[in-house]
Amino acid sequence: MTKFQEIIQAIDGAENIVITAHKSPDGDSIGSSMGIYHYLRWKNKKVQICHPDPFPNFLSWVPEVDQVLNFEENEEQIVHAMAKADLIFALDYNHPSRIGDSMASLLEGKRNKTVMIDHHLNPADFAYISLSQPEVCSTAQLVYELIVADNKEFLNASMGEPLYLGIMTDTGSFRFNSVTPRTHEILASLLEVGVNHTAIHEAVFGQNSLDQLRLRSYAICNKLEIIENGKVAILSLSEQELNDYNYIKGDTEGLVNVALSIAGVKLAVFLQEKDGKVKISFRSKEEQVVNQLAADQFEGGGHAYASGGINFDSLEPTIAKLKKVLHTYVI
Ligand code: 5GP
Ligand code: MN
Repeated sequence: MTKFQEIIQAIDGAENIVITAHKSPDGDSIGSSMGIYHYLRWKNKKVQICHPDPFPNFLSWVPEVDQVLNFEENEEQIVHAMAKADLIFALDYNHPSRIGDSMASLLEGKRNKTVMIDHHLNPADFAYISLSQPEVCSTAQLVYELIVADNKEFLNASMGEPLYLGIMTDTGSFRFNSVTPRTHEILASLLEVGVNHTAIHEAVFGQNSLDQLRLRSYAICNKLEIIENGKVAILSLSEQELNDYNYIKGDTEGLVNVALSIAGVKLAVFLQEKDGKVKISFRSKEEQVVNQLAADQFEGGGHAYASGGINFDSLEPTIAKLKKVLHTYVI
C-alpha cells in the first residue's frame, strides 16, 4: 500500500478531522489546508481547520478562508476540536514547534492520530503516517496527489483553486527548480476542472495597497545593503519603520526576493522587527544554500534555498550578529 492509500484509508475510517498548518500562514499552508478541507467535506467528513495565527490580508479572498480558526483568537474551540479529532493533518510543516508551543502541546500523545503531509527537509517523527517529499515543490501538490490517488473524479474547482494558489506561491509563480513536468500536468488538470488562474494571480499580485508599495520602495531605497563582494543583500525594517507605513501582515511578503533579484547577489536576507525580536527570511540561489545558516544561528530552518529564523533581540544587534557569522556560510 502506498502512503497515499494509507492516508485515504485513515480518512475513510475517521469522522472528525482537524487540519493544522504552520505559523505565519503563506499561500501553501492556506492553499493546502483549504484544498484538503474541500476534499474531506466532499467525503462527508466533519472538518475543522486550526491554524496557530491569523492569515495575512492578501489571502483573505480565498473562498471560505473564514472557516480557518486561529489559536490566537479561538483557543477554546481549537482545544476542543483537537481533543475530539479522530485524525489530525499536519500540513506544510516538519516539526511540531512550527505550530508554536501552545498548539504543539495539543499534538502531544496524538501520534497515532496524526498524519503529516509536507515537503520540508529533515522531518521529525511525530506522526504515525509521514508523507515527506522534500523534492516536491509544495504541500498543495502533495494534496493534489492524495485527491487523485483516491479518485480523480472528485477533483473540482473548490479544491483546485487553493491548490493552484499553494503551487503558485511556493514556486515563485512556477519558476523555481522544484517545478517539474508533473507540476505542469497538475496545473493543466486544475484548469480543466475550472480553476480561474487569472483571478488567482490578480488576487495575489494585483491588489497591493499604496502603503504597502511605499513601504517596499522605502526599504529598497534606504535599507538595502550589499556586502560580501556583491554576493549578499540585506534588507531590514524596524518596528518604527513598519508603523510609519501602517504595516499590516503580508505587506512585506516576497520582499526578500527583490533583494535576491539583484545581479550578482546569491544570498538575500530580510529582517523584520516586532516586539523586540526579529523574524528573518533567507533566500539563495545556485550553489549557495541557506538552511544551515538559519538552523545554526537563528533557531530556524526550512528549504535549501528558502529558510527562516528568529533572533530574540532588536534589529541593530541582530544585523550585527548576522554580519559577524555570515562569511562562514557564503560560498
Ligand atoms: P519565510 O521566509 O517565507 O518566512 O520562510 C521561508 C521558509 O523557511 C518557510 O517555508 C519555512 O520552511 C522556513 N521557516 C521560516 N521560519 C522558520 C522557523 O522559524 N523555523 C523553521 N524551522 N523554519 C522556518
Ligand atoms: Mn510549502
